[in-house]
Amino acid sequence: MNTILLKNTPDDIKAAAKIIKDGGLVGMPTETVYGLAADALNGKAVAEIFKAKGRPMDNPLIVHIADFSDIQRFNLVSEIPNNAKILADRFWPGPLTIIMKKSAVIPDEVSAGLDTVAIRLPSHPAARELIRQSGTVLAAPSANLSGSPSPTSAAHVMKDMCGKINAVIDGGTSDVGVESTVITLASDIPRVLRPGGVTAEQLKEILGDVEIDSAVLNKLEDGQKAASPGMKYKHYAPKARVILLKCSDDEYINYVNKNSGKGVAALCCDEDIPLLNTQVFSLGRRNNYTAHAHRLFDELRKIDEHGDISVVYSRLPSVDGVGMAVYNRLIRAAGFEVIDLEKI
Ligand code: AMP
Ligand code: MG
Repeated sequence: MNTILLKNTPDDIKAAAKIIKDGGLVGMPTETVYGLAADALNGKAVAEIFKAKGRPMDNPLIVHIADFSDIQRFNLVSEIPNNAKILADRFWPGPLTIIMKKSAVIPDEVSAGLDTVAIRLPSHPAARELIRQSGTVLAAPSANLSGSPSPTSAAHVMKDMCGKINAVIDGGTSDVGVESTVITLASDIPRVLRPGGVTAEQLKEILGDVEIDSAVLNKLEDGQKAASPGMKYKHYAPKARVILLKCSDDEYINYVNKNSGKGVAALCCDEDIPLLNTQVFSLGRRNNYTAHAHRLFDELRKIDEHGDISVVYSRLPSVDGVGMAVYNRLIRAAGFEVIDLEKI
């Protein structure tokens, strides 16, 4: 298949909408990461997303809407909980996905057989325009090959999906850089299943009681059921082995310098660069977790493109604010491999 690179122009978005209406797949810019979009109400089109990504069929997709009223217009849920209205008022359009009880119009391919559906209203104008022009709502997981770092540019999508999908719209670099926060309202107490650009602190401020699912920060035990099926897979990983170090800033520099050599790199902060005697990939200033999120996947991809790196050392991130989203992605990229230098 020939994959067309489209621009963020009215004519090109119209062409992309036609592809969606015909049951095709379009790489769609959003403010979190690029999505791989198909008509969410067309089970056959949605099945093609799983094939293109190599995504396990038991991992449900997020349905993207252009306006809050789309939930009712397309009859997506059995009931809109009051907390969904409160969250939408505060955080939509934006990087928050809300899980609710689904209605019968949601194909099994989208919800992977669950009785719930995940819904998000993105803020990227090209995404909203594509949804509107398509006259439907769009199922869209991240537009990467399953398991590899999520795409934050059209070039990333082309790298993974060229020849497998109909088109990609180039809408620039994704602002947030990590996938949306996922919160479920289908449990008694609202629960964060995946951290993202909307922080746990912000959610607690609005809702009061909010739980953080244990799979957000910890490895699932063998046989433990994942509330969010996506959390059970090794994810976001470059081909190089990523190792996280739990340590002070000084210990990090010492450890990496002591272990530097051919094929070794550091995924670090700007302040570390002059102190390290190894290949460096920086996530930005030390305490700027928003910058770390924005750059994380691009740096992981650059590590692969370098071609000669087999081990990458990074610090165990903070879990404060957007740091929790970075922690959640990096610990999966590392396959949960953490060296606690305080215990050595
Ligand atoms: P992605 O589409 O790649 O951003 O991943 C979507 C994430 O949301 C995955 O971790 C899914 O497992 C999760 N998700 C989507 N729908 C549901 C749902 N109905 N219940 C629980 N998790 C969901
Ligand atoms: Mg994904």
